[in-house]
Amino acid sequence: MLKINNLHVSVGDKPILKGLTLEVPAGEVHAVMGPNGAGKSTLGYALSGRPGYEATKGTASWNGDDLLALDPAERAAKGVFLSFQYPLEIPGVPAMTFIRTALNAQKRARGEEEVSAPAFLKLVRAASERLKMNFEMLKRPLNVGFSGGEKKRMEILQMALLEPSLLILDETDSGLDIDALRIVSEGVNALRSPERSMLVITHYQRLLDYIKPDRVHVLAAGRIVASGGPELALQLEAEGYDRYVSEAA
Ligand code: ADP
Ligand code: MG
Ligand code: MG
Repeated sequence: MLKINNLHVSVGDKPILKGLTLEVPAGEVHAVMGPNGAGKSTLGYALSGRPGYEATKGTASWNGDDLLALDPAERAAKGVFLSFQYPLEIPGVPAMTFIRTALNAQKRARGEEEVSAPAFLKLVRAASERLKMNFEMLKRPLNVGFSGGEKKRMEILQMALLEPSLLILDETDSGLDIDALRIVSEGVNALRSPERSMLVITHYQRLLDYIKPDRVHVLAAGRIVASGGPELALQLEAEGYDRYVSEAA
């Protein structure tokens, strides 16, 4: 299970998360919703270990491992995967090479055997078919010139191959049309399992029509200020975040 207790995170000198407490049991999908600037992306970065997002206080553990003590590669080896709100473009590196490198780095860190080129090709072909991705796209530099929907599908393809145990999806719905949203959500839903936990970060309720959360949390002013069932997302959609923002302040 994911256990976050009284987490404080600063970017530079600026405190962003200010005492965030949250638990996601294994097998559950929890949504984190909140206004722009609340610190949602900061939470994803802090859990995945992005440099510059410094935990100054509190704890965060995944299946008993202290995440804050691990470097980003070690966290990935423990199964932590962050799907970016704005996926990175990497000119010069074919998407397929990028994914294979990530997969083999994960295997090495776990003391497992690397995947051979032919075996990887088989894996990636099958996964791209499931996600209705054009296989030729995988030979192009990662995300360079990809549409918003293609970038998100690429993120889901990476997840399907890396098989993370803790998935953090940061505004996976942004920039997606309805068809892409459905395909991406199906890809995410296919990864639901009793051992896997998911943190679905979103500003809008729409995504949660497709990825049904067990619990919904409101992040405002750097803390979780309310939690509830899926109905909380509908209430937020109807009422907005104003009440929570002023209460948090
Ligand atoms: P959200 O994802 O909820 O919209 P963010 O986590 O992106 O919020 O940002 C929370 C706050 O932290 C915002 O005020 C933002 O401007 C600030 N912030 C985030 N990243 C940086 C950074 N790299 N440098 C300076 N400020 C940052
Ligand atoms: Mg934002
Ligand atoms: Mg964000």
